[in-house]
Amino acid sequence: MDLLKSIPKVDKFVSNKAFEEMSKPLILSIAKNVINNLREDILKENIEKIDETKLIQEVISKYEDITKPSLQKVINATGVIVHTNLGRSLIDSKTFDAVKQIATSYNNLEYNLELGKRGERYSHISNVVKKLLGCEDVLIVNNNASAVFLILNTFAKNKEVVVSRGELVEIGGSFRVPDVMSSSGATLKEIGTTNKTHLKDYINAINENTSMLMKVHKSNYSIEGFSSEVLFKEIVEVAKEHDVIDYYDMGSGHIIDLPYGLDQSEPSVLKYMESNPSLLSFSGDKLLGSVQAGIIVGKKKYIDQLKKNQLLRMLRVDKLTLALLEENMKSILLGKLENIPTLNMLFKSLDELKKDAISLQEKIKDICKTEIIETKTVIGGGTTPNKKIPTIALSIGFKNYKPNKIEKLLRAKNIIGRIENEQFLLDFRTIQKDEIALIENILKEMINE
Ligand SMILES: *Cc1c(COP(=O)(O)O)cnc(C)c1O
Repeated sequence: MDLLKSIPKVDKFVSNKAFEEMSKPLILSIAKNVINNLREDILKENIEKIDETKLIQEVISKYEDITKPSLQKVINATGVIVHTNLGRSLIDSKTFDAVKQIATSYNNLEYNLELGKRGERYSHISNVVKKLLGCEDVLIVNNNASAVFLILNTFAKNKEVVVSRGELVEIGGSFRVPDVMSSSGATLKEIGTTNKTHLKDYINAINENTSMLMKVHKSNYSIEGFSSEVLFKEIVEVAKEHDVIDYYDMGSGHIIDLPYGLDQSEPSVLKYMESNPSLLSFSGDKLLGSVQAGIIVGKKKYIDQLKKNQLLRMLRVDKLTLALLEENMKSILLGKLENIPTLNMLFKSLDELKKDAISLQEKIKDICKTEIIETKTVIGGGTTPNKKIPTIALSIGFKNYKPNKIEKLLRAKNIIGRIENEQFLLDFRTIQKDEIALIENILKEMINE
């Protein structure tokens, strides 16, 4: 029990010079914990002697764990452009600078500068979006999941919503259409079969308690073979005839036509707007290439009703979201697509990608075994299910390490690549120009370690 007597006194322990530069209250709280654990270990006879230097190191390491930034920059070398685990869409740094002033100063978020009275938060973006999409009105919420929830809750609480069985999707991160529907208060009316839904299924399902015909984008799978689904424009027609609302949850909404023939299977928001729908919603940070947001467009009378739902207060977006989204929409309207990194990556030609790959290859050819690989990647984020686009990667080998060892070592330096055909690849579809030098430096450091 002598050991118990020699446990350091907390007050004295925290006054050690090693903690001089650190936050006193935080050090005190960590030190109390460490010393309590020490006491318990002594009582359990797990410990034979007290090593104060080790205790100091333990406190410092816990302090560093807490204070180091948890959210960090990574280099996305996976080739997956809309990578939800890696933050989905990048914001161009010039766009970010333009918006910085809104965050660092007061602004007219809900203030009408002309009238000197309270203004409307959602008004800022509406003119640009109306011009761009030709819709009557627009509403921005926290994300597309909240858009779906708000729409169902507003129009279909205690009423029926007709959805095809082939579209009852589950999207990563526990977004399941049937579950979202029931928690919004709507009753799901499933129609058709897994592989086939016909227009008559929609028509037959409509009764006096039907509020909405809903279509959901099959974001992460496709139904091949003996299958058919009903086009949204046909659903819009039927909804109009029967005086119910039509709504398409597009998932990733893109305004610019996709390359590589993907526009055939994945039409743009503009295409869907041609059928004059009641409501459409899509994500701000998938192929639109902006911040996390849910964008709802459609008829003014429905958007007005959404704005009256109390829930909107819980789903409302910050000034930064609105400012960044406004810049994104303006860039599209003005044809300045170079301001949208997601689109830059998507439209980059194989020649450009190859040039980037060769520039890294040249710099590391003396330290790594490399090869330029022409391969394919996915866009990701539930944007173009089961479709691939061409890309260029550089395979990296060194010190006879196995690919998964190289993957792990580079991941420890925040470079995330992928393994394909037993090779570790850096995919240039998602590597930014200024990251090539960073990768070079990191690889050179690693060779010396
Ligand atoms: C991605 C997706 C959502 C969720 O959108 P978030 O913006 O991530 O909330 C909803 N529906 C579909 C069909 C999707 O693809």
